[in-house]
Amino acid sequence: MSRGWLSSNQVVFTAEGCDTAVVDTGHVREVQATLALTAQALAGRPLQRIVNTHLHSDHAGGNAALQAAHPGVRVSIPPGLAEAVQQWDEVALSYRDTDQTCPRFLHDDTLPLQGHVQLGGWPWQVLPADGHDRHMVMLWCEPLGVLISADALWQQGFGVLFPELAGEPGAFEAQWATLDTIERLQPRWVIPGHGDPFCTVGEAIAGARSRLQWLAEDPSRHAQVALKGLVAFGLMERGQMPLAGVTRLIGQGLMAQPGFARWFDEPAQTLAERVMAQLVRAGVAREIGPETWGTVDARP
Ligand SMILES: [Zn+2]
Repeated sequence: MSRGWLSSNQVVFTAEGCDTAVVDTGHVREVQATLALTAQALAGRPLQRIVNTHLHSDHAGGNAALQAAHPGVRVSIPPGLAEAVQQWDEVALSYRDTDQTCPRFLHDDTLPLQGHVQLGGWPWQVLPADGHDRHMVMLWCEPLGVLISADALWQQGFGVLFPELAGEPGAFEAQWATLDTIERLQPRWVIPGHGDPFCTVGEAIAGARSRLQWLAEDPSRHAQVALKGLVAFGLMERGQMPLAGVTRLIGQGLMAQPGFARWFDEPAQTLAERVMAQLVRAGVAREIGPETWGTVDARP
């Protein structure tokens, strides 16, 4: 199931005689569509398993609603975040500094790193995919040659490297190693966290590597890319934002992260004005009122 960029793709497994399952659950803003599309795919069967590649708000935002709609569904998350989920630690889960919303859910177990989970009657290997998120995993089905790559590899690029923003060392190297892992697997198809599935995997890896190299050569570039990406995401999440809202997101959220703040010495409002102008030029945002922006799809 694929929608706009705000919600991650959801991979639904409905094979006869096997447990029904979904990988990732989208963003809470689109939760009604998630429930409806999942129900349609399941055709009256209950959902038996949710597997999350990682717990960013656009990948786990539908967990709580699906849990409520399908009592008894088993929720499996990557190891490393179990305690944060149990205590609902919004800092560790990244929701606070990115000012993103994800309704609280409960998990039942953690995924076995390097081990396998059965989805749709096939074994899927759980592979660590550090870079975008320390604890993210990918799912690899060797017999089918299909990789669910989450935000480690898209057809063009990959997700913002959150550990780099947090000021943790080694994020660029970790992403490089994850791309190496994907190359070794030689997938026939990749189902990314966002965008259409693709089979031009070699091309995507080459593109991702050259982008990663460009970012690693001058990490301030990564901070600029993250600024644009996270503000665009905030705008999609809210539908529209005034300048004060963008300034708050940058000043109180992003600037709280050392790996982000060290690259900027201008006031948050100046950055907010500049990034909105860039997003308008890029066709991602449009002005819908005085100092207020909406997504390109949003009608004032
Ligand atoms: Zn993510």
